[in-house]
Amino acid sequence: MSDTFKALVLRQEGDRVRQAIEQLTVSDLPEGDVLVDVEYSSLNYKDAMAVTGTGKIVREYPMVPGIDLAGTVLESKSPFYKEGDRVVLTGWNVGERYWGGYTQRARVKSNWLVPLPEGLDTRHAMAVGTAGFTAMLCVMTLEEAGLKPGSGTVLVTGAAGGVGGVAVAILAYLGYRVAALTAPGQENTHEYLEELGAMDFVAGPEWTVQPRPLETQRWAGAVDTVGGRVLARVLAEMNYGGCVANCGLAGSADLPTTVMPFILRAVSLRGVDSVLCPIHRRKTAWSRLVRDLPTSALDMITPDVISLDDLPSRSADLLAGKIRGRLVVDVRA
Ligand code: NDP
Repeated sequence: MSDTFKALVLRQEGDRVRQAIEQLTVSDLPEGDVLVDVEYSSLNYKDAMAVTGTGKIVREYPMVPGIDLAGTVLESKSPFYKEGDRVVLTGWNVGERYWGGYTQRARVKSNWLVPLPEGLDTRHAMAVGTAGFTAMLCVMTLEEAGLKPGSGTVLVTGAAGGVGGVAVAILAYLGYRVAALTAPGQENTHEYLEELGAMDFVAGPEWTVQPRPLETQRWAGAVDTVGGRVLARVLAEMNYGGCVANCGLAGSADLPTTVMPFILRAVSLRGVDSVLCPIHRRKTAWSRLVRDLPTSALDMITPDVISLDDLPSRSADLLAGKIRGRLVVDVRA
C-alpha cells in the first residue's frame, strides 16, 4: 500500500466551498475500526449538491463527500471483518457528517458495512449505489403493503433519475406493469425507460397544477421520488387501498394534498429512508438486488464511469438535469 492516496476534499472558505483533489495519508483519516481500500463510489443528487456547495448537505468541514462506497477491507479491528473482505457502504450520513467515498482509502465503523453480496462486483454495487438500494427499499415497502404483480399498474415518478430508473427495472423484472412519469421535456428518455421495462408513459400539463382531492383511480402502487404537486396527484389517483412509497423530493418538499385519499380510498403513504435503515433490512435489500435486478439493466442504467477529477463538472451537469441514469466513480482512475 502506498503511503499517500488521493481524495476529493471540500473545505469551507468564508461562505464558499472549495473542492480539490488532495494527497492524504492514512493518519489523516477519521476514527473507525475498518480501513477500506475503496474502488468505486457513485454520484447522487445529494453528492452533486455537496460537491458544488449547493444547499446544506455537508454538516462538517473539511469533508470527503460521496454517500456510498465499495471496496476491500485492508485492516480491521472488528471481529466481523477481516483483511480481503469485499464490502459495501451506503447511508449513515457518510459524505455529509462523516467522510465518504470519494477517496482511495476510507476508515469507517464496521457496523456501517454490509458484506458485498455474492454475485455482485464492486462496480455493479455502485451502479446500484444508494439510488438503487433506495429503489429496492421502495419496492419492499410496496410488497409489505400487499402489492403483487397483477394488482394493477405501478407508477414510478422521476423515472429518468437514478432512483426512478432502478425502480422501473426492478418492478418490471418482478413482473409488474410499470408506468413512468418523467419531467416535462424528458420524452427523449422514453426509449431508454422502455428498455428497462416501462410499458406506459405519463406526462402532461395536469402534473404541474394542483390536482382535485380525488381523481380517477389509476395506480395499484407508486414509487415517488419527486414530491410536491406530483405526489399530491399520485395520491389523488391511487386505487382503493393502494400504497405510495415516497423517498424523494426532487420536485418539492411540499405536499399540497388533503386527507381525502387516505379516508375515502384507504390510500397509504409510506416514507422510505436509506440513511438509517436497520442492518437486517439492508442485508435483505442487497441480496434482493442481486436476485431482482439483472446486471444487463444495471449496465444500461450506468452510461458512464467517471474519475475523481470529473466530479465537479459532472455534479454541475447532474444538478442541471443533464444526466440520465447513474454515474459510477472509479476512485482509482
Ligand atoms: P435524480 O436527479 O437522478 O432524478 C430525479 C428525477 O426527477 C429527474 O429525472 C428529474 O428531472 C425529475 N423531476 C424533478 N422534478 C420533477 C417534476 N416536478 N416532475 C417530474 N419529474 C421531476 O435524483 P435521484 O433519483 O438520485 O433522487 C431522487 C430523489 O430521491 C432526490 O430528492 C433524492 O434526494 C432522494 N433520495 C432519497 C433517498 C432516501 O434515502 N430517502 C436516497 C436517494 C435519493 P430533471 O432532471 O429534468 O429535473
